[in-house]
This record gives sequence, C-alpha cells and structure tokens, in this order.
Amino acid sequence: MNVVLFGPPGAGKGTQAKELAKHYQIPHISTGDILRANVRDGTELGKEAKGYMDKGELVPDDVLIGIIKNRLAESDCKPGYLLDGYPRTTPQADALSAILEVIGMPLEVVLNIDVADEELVTRLCGRHMCTCGESYHMKFNPPEKENVCDACGAELYQRDDDKEDVIRQRLDSYKEKTQPLINYYKEKGLLVDIDGTGAIDRVFSDICNILDQYK
Ligand code: ADP
Ligand code: ADP
Ligand code: ZN
Repeated sequence: MNVVLFGPPGAGKGTQAKELAKHYQIPHISTGDILRANVRDGTELGKEAKGYMDKGELVPDDVLIGIIKNRLAESDCKPGYLLDGYPRTTPQADALSAILEVIGMPLEVVLNIDVADEELVTRLCGRHMCTCGESYHMKFNPPEKENVCDACGAELYQRDDDKEDVIRQRLDSYKEKTQPLINYYKEKGLLVDIDGTGAIDRVFSDICNILDQYK
C-alpha cells in the first residue's frame, strides 16, 4: 500500500497517519518528525533546517529529497509507505516519482484531507505534541492524563511554530507552493478528496473505506 497523506498544516495528517500505520502495518514517514528529531539532536541537517522551520517556511527541496530517498530505501518500507508532509513542492513530487520508479513502488493514492483555514488555526493553536510524533489537542483530542502522552508517557509540548503568526506563514507557504500539487496528482488520476472536518474516528473510517481498495 503506497500512500501520500496530503493537506494543509493542521488537517490531521499526523493524527490519522499514526492510526493508519497501526491498522495497515506500514511505516508512517513524516518529514516534519524527521526534521524535528534532527533539530533536537543538533545534527548539521537540523541546524540547516531550523531557521526555515521557525519562520514557517519550507526547508529547501534538495534537503528534503535527500531525506526521503534515504528513508524509502529502508527495509521496513517493503510492504508500503504512508508519507505525511512530503511532497510539498512540484520538484519534490517529481523527485518522488523518480525515486519510486527506481525502487519499483509507485504511488497508488494521494489522500487530500480538506479543512477550512479558520479551523486549521484553532487546531494548531491548541495542538500539544509528543517527541514520539503523537499529537493531541487541548479540547478536541486531549490525552487521558493532562500533558502526558498516552502512547509513550513523555511530557507533551507546544511546537515553536504553532504560534498564530507562524501558523499564518505556514498556511501561506502551503497555498503558494504546496496546493498546486492537488492538480498535479489529479491529472495523474491519483487524488482522492477526504472531508477532514468532524470527529477523528469518522475521518479515519472514511480513509479506511478508500484504502481498503488497495490492500
Ligand atoms: P497535521 O499533521 O496535518 O499538521 P495533526 O494531526 O497534528 O495535523 O492535527 C492538528 C491538530 O488538530 C492536533 O491538535 C490534533 O489533535 C487536532 N485534530 C486532528 N484531527 C482533528 C479532527 N478531526 N477534529 C478536531 N481536531 C483534530
Ligand atoms: P504540519 O504538521 O504542521 O503540517 P510538519 O510537521 O509537516 O508541519 O512540518 C513542519 C515544518 O518542517 C514545516 O513548516 C517546514 O518548515 C518543514 N518541512 C516538513 N516537511 C517539509 C517538506 N516536505 N518540504 C519542506 N519543508 C518541510
Ligand atoms: Zn509520546
């Protein structure tokens, strides 16, 4: 099962991907999580990426293409992959096609999770994250124990880029650079729209109804 989860910041990609990865037993590959781990570890890559991330701008394409190429070559991707947050530009999408052709695992479906802008801002302003990649929301999806990750027990934190001014910049970057990929994948016949509003488990079952066709 070879899938891209597509949508603006806050659409629920990470939330859905965590559950889908368990349900279908395929790896969840989040370029945001990979970049944040590099920033935390203080790697060269993390140092290069941090400035862009703090401003809500996209990290340069060559950096992302390198990351995704290495990650897709790992053996856990043999049964398939669930990409979250990649591709975000046309050059990234072109590079992805080339990489996938070489490894013989072409993309089967791009799920476009749709949520209105104001709802995205409310979601991101209240988002609490865990370093393990789980995300929660103070109101919409609280953890069982306040400020503690249900999955791993670590303390939750708010992302530096989940502040309203940076959120607006991320939404602008999305509209300018990423949204054009909707037509790109529509023309390839790969795009399926998902209504991302409503309960998390309703969105999950809508996605499963689509993905079950690719099992
Ligand atoms: P993305 O990975 O697309 O940026 P997340 O999965 O991190 O988005 O979700 C953004 C925020 O919205 C989180 O706080 C999450 O708990 C919350 N959220 C996710 N899905 C829903 C939903 N269907 N309804 C309400 N809040 C949601
Ligand atoms: P969100 O969950 O809000 O959609 P991500 O966690 O996916 O955000 O990404 C956080 C930041 O990491 C982005 O604002 C951007 O700076 C950088 N980033 C992640 N993926 C990419 C990518 N494919 N191309 C460029 N920058 C990226
Ligand atoms: Zn955790």
